[in-house]
Amino acid sequence: MKLVRMLFFIFLLAVSFSISATSVIATESPAFLHSHLNFQSVISDNTFLALNIDNTSEPGMSESSFLSKAGSQQQKPAAENQKIAYLTFDDGPGKYTSTILDILKNKNAKATFFVVEPHITANKNSIVRVKNEGHYIALHSVTHDARKLYKGSSMNVAKEMETTRKTLNSILKVNSYLVRVPYGSKPYMTEPFRDWLVKYKFKMWDWTIDSNDWRYKTSQYTTIINNVKTSVPKVEKQKKPIIILMHERPQTVKALPQIIDYLKARGYVLVPYNPNQHVISNFWNDSRL
Ligand SMILES: [Zn+2]
Repeated sequence: MKLVRMLFFIFLLAVSFSISATSVIATESPAFLHSHLNFQSVISDNTFLALNIDNTSEPGMSESSFLSKAGSQQQKPAAENQKIAYLTFDDGPGKYTSTILDILKNKNAKATFFVVEPHITANKNSIVRVKNEGHYIALHSVTHDARKLYKGSSMNVAKEMETTRKTLNSILKVNSYLVRVPYGSKPYMTEPFRDWLVKYKFKMWDWTIDSNDWRYKTSQYTTIINNVKTSVPKVEKQKKPIIILMHERPQTVKALPQIIDYLKARGYVLVPYNPNQHVISNFWNDSRL
């Protein structure tokens, strides 16, 4: 008799436990959804653009094929509601690459390097170091010559980028599809040129902040810092991503530490380009790129 009573008691306990568990699930569901809605609302502009990518990429190119293109340069997605800035260095690798890398390492910042094909083969050690230290390597053509790139066939730019991509892939086993065209995409990259980039599955970045570093002597490096400082608040107001154009030059090396300090003090994290969170930023506002 005692045993029956005990079994009944256990049965009652089990029933009451399952009822309370159900009610927990029932009340948690809306809260769970709610937290996701909150998550959506705190996504930064950059991330929002990044999430739009699959609507804008060409038909037939699935999300998974885009993701798999990222190759071994995949980065951890930046946390939501972080202020993100992208430092970009064009025309290397070259004799200033290692100093730039030292500064970035010292300041715990990551960057994106747009490289020229003959410079990759000429500076293999540098390009290996760029990759190993977690920066993104993107494509900046073979000839860097406006007459060769933009005169003649509208296929020329895509072909030079493809050659650069293959060389990079053969040396580093990375698969990069981000390009920056020499001298910027306006006015050169008219629709036929852009169509070819799309066919080759490239993405194209210009910049939102021009440091104008190439214009100045090393002794004038503070002007480069000031160019960045005056531009960042304006670009913030326009709610555009912060993509800063720089080159591998001695004056840039001098200016770089203070540029990084300024951005960090303003709350930015300096991350490399992330193909899985692609941000559309080109002068034509071509959403395919
Ligand atoms: Zn260039």
